[in-house]
Amino acid sequence: MQDILLLKQGEIVLKGLNKKYFEQKLVQNVKRRLARLGEFEITCLQSILYVEPKSEAVDMDAVQEAMTKVFGVAAVVRAAGCEKTPEAMAAKAVEYMADAMRAAKSFKVETKRADKSYPMTSIQISQYVGGALAEAFPDTAVDVHDPALTVHVEVRETQAFIHGAPLPGAGGLPVGCGGTAVTLLSGGIDSPVSTYMIAKRGVHMIPVHFFSFPYTSELAKQKVLDLAKILTDYCGRMTVEVVPFTHIQTEIRDKCPEEYFTLIMRRFMMRIAQGVADRNGAKALVTGENLGQVASQTMEALGCTEAVCRVPVLRPLIGFDKEEIVRLARRIGTFELSTLPYEDCCTVFTPRHPRTKPRIDAVEEAEAVLDIDGLVKEALDGIERVRIEPGEE
Ligand code: ATP
Ligand code: MG
Repeated sequence: MQDILLLKQGEIVLKGLNKKYFEQKLVQNVKRRLARLGEFEITCLQSILYVEPKSEAVDMDAVQEAMTKVFGVAAVVRAAGCEKTPEAMAAKAVEYMADAMRAAKSFKVETKRADKSYPMTSIQISQYVGGALAEAFPDTAVDVHDPALTVHVEVRETQAFIHGAPLPGAGGLPVGCGGTAVTLLSGGIDSPVSTYMIAKRGVHMIPVHFFSFPYTSELAKQKVLDLAKILTDYCGRMTVEVVPFTHIQTEIRDKCPEEYFTLIMRRFMMRIAQGVADRNGAKALVTGENLGQVASQTMEALGCTEAVCRVPVLRPLIGFDKEEIVRLARRIGTFELSTLPYEDCCTVFTPRHPRTKPRIDAVEEAEAVLDIDGLVKEALDGIERVRIEPGEE
């Protein structure tokens, strides 16, 4: 008999009247993520999703790993199934919980019966299974008030399940519940993390990448698509919009004062991202900006760049230390790829002495020589869309 997974909902349970909507979205996202891993039966009972594989061939380690990355799931519990006789439940508990029992100082058994016609009460089952465990692991004391380990027994319609402590899930809210945002995705360390953080709040993400061929190479673009691929484990499928950015950059280089290169370039990025948002009904932009990290991330500089947007600019990393961002990047699995040394368009024409406290009227004057609307339209018209699905190629 195969193990099953119990997915415990997090914040969704606080959603009151909207709860059904969030729950349906979660079930839909879970089903999508499971589609490539085999056939499953999914049941939702009292804020827990039960994921039962329909065949022995399913790789439950892979399923467990995938489910810890679904936003909206607070905890993932792996449980072993057995026949629902007291003897079978006790034997399964002794076998399945052996390592945890040996490691724990004390334990108790807690039983839930979904099958109310079962001839033993929950307390009787707990006592029976607890007795077998106490006998098999005499060094682990029974403690019903403050046990180090709780062994759970669930008696369901057709079988029983045994499980121990849950694994942490990804938390957050199901992707899609919170609308859509456009995320500016570079190949750096920060923007994959900012994308992850806003997706975690239930937002579907559209990554936009600015590509300055031949100043930035095909490899640099592929790196961004590979980062997006890692992110789909959390964010679900995404379509990356690759924006041709070379013409804008050479125009800025040829016609604008050097000290404003970066700021003017960033204002173009924001205008184009706003354009992508408009086309897709997205209601916010997301960046990996972080206060004080570089010259273009002072409060004055951020003010100059967001002045060209109509939707809010979300900057989830604004108050993080680099070390905190790196820790998160490692945890979600993007760090190594992010540190591959490919150039980014931001570093192509970097001014030697950038303005750290720019005035917006001065920036506007410096960019006024450019055909702003024409350049933005040209970039938007030249976008290449690349669809990225979770899972293997
Ligand atoms: P990151 O590590 O995310 O690249 P960074 O610390 O290098 O960030 P900048 O290069 O100033 O900072 O970029 C700030 C933000 O602008 C990035 O976090 C990202 O959201 C966006 N950005 C920068 N370059 C690009 C690009 N080529 N394509 C899309 N977005 C970009
Ligand atoms: Mg960067």
